[in-house]
Amino acid sequence: MDRQQEFVLRTLEERDIRFVRLWFTDVLGYLKSVAIAPAELEGAFGEGIGFDGSAIEGFARVYEADMLARPDPSTFQVLPWRSQVPGTARMFCDILMPDGTPSYADPRFVLKRVLGRASDLGFTFYTHPEVEFFLMKNPPAYGQFPEPVDSGGYFDHTPHSASYDFRRDAIMMLENMGISVEFSHHEGAPGQQEIDLRYADALTTADNIMTFRLVMKEVALEHDIYASFMPKPFTEYPGSGMHTHMSLFEGDRNAFYEAGSQFQLSKVGRSFIAGLLHHAAEITAVCNQWVNSYKRLWDAAAATAGAGGEAPAYICWGHNNRSALVRVPMYKPTKDNSSRIEFRSLDSACNPYLAFAVILAAGLKGIEDGYELPPGAEDDVWALTDAERRALGIAPLPQSLDEAIRAMERSEFVAETLGEHVYEFFLRNKRAEWEDYRRQVTPYELNRYLPVL
Ligand code: GLN
Ligand code: MG
Ligand code: MG
Ligand code: MG
Repeated sequence: MDRQQEFVLRTLEERDIRFVRLWFTDVLGYLKSVAIAPAELEGAFGEGIGFDGSAIEGFARVYEADMLARPDPSTFQVLPWRSQVPGTARMFCDILMPDGTPSYADPRFVLKRVLGRASDLGFTFYTHPEVEFFLMKNPPAYGQFPEPVDSGGYFDHTPHSASYDFRRDAIMMLENMGISVEFSHHEGAPGQQEIDLRYADALTTADNIMTFRLVMKEVALEHDIYASFMPKPFTEYPGSGMHTHMSLFEGDRNAFYEAGSQFQLSKVGRSFIAGLLHHAAEITAVCNQWVNSYKRLWDAAAATAGAGGEAPAYICWGHNNRSALVRVPMYKPTKDNSSRIEFRSLDSACNPYLAFAVILAAGLKGIEDGYELPPGAEDDVWALTDAERRALGIAPLPQSLDEAIRAMERSEFVAETLGEHVYEFFLRNKRAEWEDYRRQVTPYELNRYLPVL
């Protein structure tokens, strides 16, 4: 047993922890958990704990169902919302095949594989997500519209409002779990919140996002409210994005930084953006994986009204341009290491492991193949006409899950990045979701057509 594993076992004893939750994530980004007794842990660190993979979305075919979950001791954490004695702790797991090789279906492994490629090129990938979500008064009830907890707007500070108290408790709980928060504020829509996590390497960030979503739901329950990461729960308000700031480091040097170049952005940084733009359409299904995701991206009314409706719909980059898919934020002249880019299409309901995997792979491809960065967009691209956008070479992102699936189906690049198994499962699952959606007769149609047809 190594030192980290010994530390975990010692802590369990010292803190009287009787349940250890082993966490992993399915292909669609749902958190899975199995609780084991501390006595089982030594074995779990060794060969792993067996489970039926065919019962987990996207994991295995029935005839090869046996899989193993092996906890990663570096992710050990006592759970603060179960702080009563005896306590509960958790670790994220790697999923293994019965012969001990990594499972091709484990999203954490998919990300690790791309991180490995980055590391072969000398890079560490850092990410910093701005997670947006809604707080509702009640849990969802079939056929009922959600009601936001407050009527606040962007940066509003209302004393002792439901969301102010919520954010304070939620952030304290995240900090208790070792997840540092950089900012938090009320977002543009009623009930909408944003909490930004501090920079970390992408695997840690992805683990943190999984923890984050659960913590928000737990804290909301304690407050008798409901937290949702659904990309666009309200027709009339902007949706919830997960803009993600990213950079590549070579040791402790930021590889996106170059003194004196435009926006202090190095050649590596420019090629990374070029890669993101070049592959943007093919990776959209992974970054925006639900039918509902496209209601957020394509809300032209919210986009032109400003006030937080700043989801990107067109494939372009810009400096201080909040309508662009990729933005190069203002750099801090005193901090060489702060050069970064912001990718803005991601939503808060993505599978963060798979999304970071395709994003990083696209950026690396830009670097390896020396893609040229097209000119940046200066205008609000929403305000241009189709013809103007065409003249500037600015293409739209896919406009529906259907279009996004089609772009992904044509992509050798995404198949390679996700691996054949995850790629095929994902496409099958999303095609079924689209077809299920397409056959629905919606309240919109009834209200619009029945009175006049
Ligand atoms: N909610 C917007 C989105 O969906 C972002 C608003 C903002 O952070 N300015 O991307
Ligand atoms: Mg923000
Ligand atoms: Mg925001
Ligand atoms: Mg942002």
